[in-house]
Amino acid sequence: MIELSARVRTMTSSPTLKLVQIKKQLQAQGKVILDFGAGEPDFPTPENIKNAGVAAIQGNFTKYTPTAGIAELKKAIQASYLAEQGYAAKDNQIVVSPGSKYGLFLMLQAVIDPGDEVIVPLPYWVSYPEMVKFCGGIVVYADHLQPDRLFKLTADSYISKYSARTKAVIVNSPSNPTGKVMSGKELGELIAFFHKKNILVIVDDCYRKIIYTDGEYPSPLNLVAAAREQVAVVSSLSKTYAMTGWRLGYTIVSEAIAAAMTKIQEHSTSNPCSISQKAAVEALSGDQHEVQAMVEEYRRRRDYFARRVDEIGHITYALPDGAFYFFADFSHYIRKKKFSDDNQLAMDILEKLNIILVPGSAFGAANHLRISYATSMKDIQEGLNKLEEYLRHDR
Ligand code: PMP
Ligand code: GLU
Repeated sequence: MIELSARVRTMTSSPTLKLVQIKKQLQAQGKVILDFGAGEPDFPTPENIKNAGVAAIQGNFTKYTPTAGIAELKKAIQASYLAEQGYAAKDNQIVVSPGSKYGLFLMLQAVIDPGDEVIVPLPYWVSYPEMVKFCGGIVVYADHLQPDRLFKLTADSYISKYSARTKAVIVNSPSNPTGKVMSGKELGELIAFFHKKNILVIVDDCYRKIIYTDGEYPSPLNLVAAAREQVAVVSSLSKTYAMTGWRLGYTIVSEAIAAAMTKIQEHSTSNPCSISQKAAVEALSGDQHEVQAMVEEYRRRRDYFARRVDEIGHITYALPDGAFYFFADFSHYIRKKKFSDDNQLAMDILEKLNIILVPGSAFGAANHLRISYATSMKDIQEGLNKLEEYLRHDR
């Protein structure tokens, strides 16, 4: 047996992606599964985007591309980011990668040395701590779990965790799993503080376009003009355009960090998929009506969820402002059913109801469950009917 590296031995598997596999296995056994697990839009990729992919194949756009992305896509990213966020990114500040997950991975590999601390939000998206540890970094949590504050994302939760070893902080807004959006005031304070300490602020905004509040989404690269070198934005096409399988994300960051990320990408994936890049040009520069329609539908589902959960009772949650997750405290029902934790509750729900939910522990929040509403209204209604019935009984 070849001994595995120490860094992979301490890495845990992705609990969200594991659920995707569990679902497939159960479906192969003939079970009908209601999937509120991994956050993946139930909508197909819009037709115009698919057609651009097909045209790329038929036009033989099937070879290696520039490592950090084709010029045409960088132009589309520049134009859409300028229109939406008012920031004009230079070519050399943009790195297109196979998914924003890989963009984050490249960025952390580019800046984190063993022993460096990275402040990540708690609850966290499952991959942040593992990516930091993979660089030899130390994970420090900015706590947004205080019960009286309903997951509010605050500057202070990060600033209070600052130490001389802090190298970077990760902000995720809208947040996976809570759906909370960090206000411009909080984000501005956070950036102003860490800029003075020369610490990189990474803003994962992959749900930026899936927002239900009327408030504008603050523009991280414009909030503190002097801090532009210390702020990075990591974005994704996966959720906004229902393109999870195409693997397409992009980063806007200082030219020096972009160059370092590009070097790592050169030696790891060479470039993002050529076909996906052509499809992404269409996604960003084509008709945006379908995006609006999908967001409207997510909002309808969120509101329905909230109403039903209120009717069921004894479930504490904060209404999500964005993304497509309901993150709620199920302590009452864990006690009522005499389970020891959220893992047991989620497992029992899977076994008895064939409903997939993600235990809050996967995000560092015991006694919670994450319920994705990126699934059809019909499944949501059926799932909530079953869940209500199940929760009413002691066992
Ligand atoms: N960040 C967050 C907060 C996520 O939930 C996800 C999962 N979709 C990602 C990044 C990565 O997405 P992708 O690699 O598909 O762009
Ligand atoms: N990000 C989604 C989730 O949290 C998809 C799975 C993953 O990449 O973690 O469910």
